[in-house]
Amino acid sequence: MNNNINLYSILLEIFSSDNNNNKYDYFYKIPFNIENYPISLEQIISEHKGIKEEFKCPICLNFVYNPKKCSKCENIFCLNCINYLDYNKCPFNCEITDYIEIDRKLKNILNSTEISCCFKKNGCNEIILYENYENHCKNCYYCDYKCSAEKCEFQGNLEQIQKHIFICDKRYKICKRCNMKFDVKFFDKHFNEDCDFIEKECNKCHFLFLKKEFYKHTEENCLKNQVIYWKNKYFNAKKEYIIEKNINSNNLIENINNIYN
Ligand SMILES: [Zn+2]
Ligand SMILES: [Zn+2]
Ligand SMILES: [Zn+2]
Ligand SMILES: [Zn+2]
Ligand SMILES: [Zn+2]
Ligand SMILES: [Zn+2]
Repeated sequence: MNNNINLYSILLEIFSSDNNNNKYDYFYKIPFNIENYPISLEQIISEHKGIKEEFKCPICLNFVYNPKKCSKCENIFCLNCINYLDYNKCPFNCEITDYIEIDRKLKNILNSTEISCCFKKNGCNEIILYENYENHCKNCYYCDYKCSAEKCEFQGNLEQIQKHIFICDKRYKICKRCNMKFDVKFFDKHFNEDCDFIEKECNKCHFLFLKKEFYKHTEENCLKNQVIYWKNKYFNAKKEYIIEKNINSNNLIENINNIYN
């Protein structure tokens, strides 16, 4: 656990040294709109009798937003929900559908309804008046953020996203050679070209070196290695020759034996 905290604080330091423009490349704020964050009935704090039932939209079953009333059956719907209906036709089968504003009295009750913030799950404990709801949520500190790494679905509040971006496996890959962590954008170049632990072969002595130690390979070194290289090559050739000869002579003995059996 302690190790994790240390790692996190080190990474945080690296991260803070990035300039601010880069910082916001890692995640972004999910813009608030009422369609994605409808007001559920559980969010209603006001205990005004029957308020939840009175303002429950029969289409989305949430607390009504931008209310409009069917002039015939007097049911109240969200403006957005009406727009999704075929021909805007009232779901209660009213012959003529005409939507009108709700009366002032209802509007006043609605506007003074107290609602908990939709980002309560993220830590916001504000209680907001209906008329200020959208404005609050658009600017709420506890809103949702999303990781901007390609194919990453992670979302959370500011604190969670700031932790996530250091461990996002859609953003980072670990180089198996040097054990360091790289942004996926730069990973291939690092792994194939830049990593200090890439093995490089000298085309004269054919010895393998780590890229970072290649500068240590002097002319003198190379000549010594070339001697070793050619010696090995000579011995290997000789070994192969002997093995081959032995196989042939075995075959020969075998063949001779076969003749006499
Ligand atoms: Zn609705
Ligand atoms: Zn109707
Ligand atoms: Zn809030
Ligand atoms: Zn991510
Ligand atoms: Zn590496
Ligand atoms: Zn060499």
